[in-house]
Amino acid sequence: MAEVLAAADLGVLLGALRARGYRVVGPRVAAGVIQYAELDDAGDLPHGWTDEQAPGRYRLARRDDDAYFGYAVGPHSWKRELLPPRVRLWQASRDGLAVEEEETDYQPTAFVGVRPCELAAIAIQDRVFLDGRFADRDYAARRADVFLVAVECGSPSSLCFCSSLGTGPGATDGFDLALTELHAGEHRFLVRSGSSAGNAVLADLPTRPAARADLETAEQVVEAAARAQAGRFAAEDVHDLLLRNLESPHWDAVAERCLSCGNCTLVCPTCFCTHVEDTSSLDGETAARDRVWDTCFSLRYAEMHGGNTRPTTRARYRQWLTHKLATWEDQFGTSGCVGCGRCIAWCPAAIDIRAEVAAIRQEDAHAHA
Ligand code: SF4
Ligand code: SF4
Repeated sequence: MAEVLAAADLGVLLGALRARGYRVVGPRVAAGVIQYAELDDAGDLPHGWTDEQAPGRYRLARRDDDAYFGYAVGPHSWKRELLPPRVRLWQASRDGLAVEEEETDYQPTAFVGVRPCELAAIAIQDRVFLDGRFADRDYAARRADVFLVAVECGSPSSLCFCSSLGTGPGATDGFDLALTELHAGEHRFLVRSGSSAGNAVLADLPTRPAARADLETAEQVVEAAARAQAGRFAAEDVHDLLLRNLESPHWDAVAERCLSCGNCTLVCPTCFCTHVEDTSSLDGETAARDRVWDTCFSLRYAEMHGGNTRPTTRARYRQWLTHKLATWEDQFGTSGCVGCGRCIAWCPAAIDIRAEVAAIRQEDAHAHA
């Protein structure tokens, strides 16, 4: 069942979420980008803004309409909420040698404006942190009371390739509510519920039943977004292609440009590498352990007894790309990439994973011609 919410009533949705006890987090303009932060009302959304993206480039620009969600994705992803950059795991005191795990009593949170590729990224991280033999305590607590308001994509950037990976631009499942922003005629949202929690919130909203024209317009929005991305990435055989080219000279060519800075992994919504940091107070009475984001581009990350398994940038870039697009599939049954394009926009060397795969494909074709 689909309903229609007038754009002017978007604030009612945010109010209904807050009335149910949710902290409401969504996109807002800050520091020259669209980032995820707490929202007080619909006026905080990036109303009339879009993002222009290219390899190594991200700029905000004004739209010529008043869209609330007329951009692709910014540098933040929802992993900042579910797997924050730094989490205190435990503290210990010398007094009685007491070790205390950190509280995980988090406020329920509504994520507003979740792109379909981000729903896929959350599902991937759920698999990593919840479905294994050892569920992660902190992630599970943060994830337990999340209400997901997805917004289908109508303005993909030139870097998006979710349609090649089947992760967008339409939202099919994994959400509580899914919105499609419609401009033709009245500015409005098509709203679909995907859960009983979604049904309850939807019942609080001043909606009307969707007419055939609303449904058709929403389909056209998603189809146009998919068409805009057509042919941007050939995903079908990428697993085997990369694994049979582990010694390709192209890894050396990428390593000449790659700075090993790790930006690509920090902005990636699925990358999950962390390390732990232990600290103690100056008087030696207390100690603590924090979990912090790390990256496979860090030299230290591959250090172990006897040496470093990935001492060169070539080895580290190859590890990242082959894990993301090939061995992740063997490990978790899905690609580690959802096609959001963040790693391309935020790479200071403008390295584009789609172009790197295409170059390896070309070399592979020559080698087997
Ligand atoms: S690898 Fe790049 S395009 Fe793929 S999900 Fe990560 S940031 Fe997005
Ligand atoms: S690919 Fe780009 S973002 Fe990633 S480590 Fe290399 S230079 Fe940094």
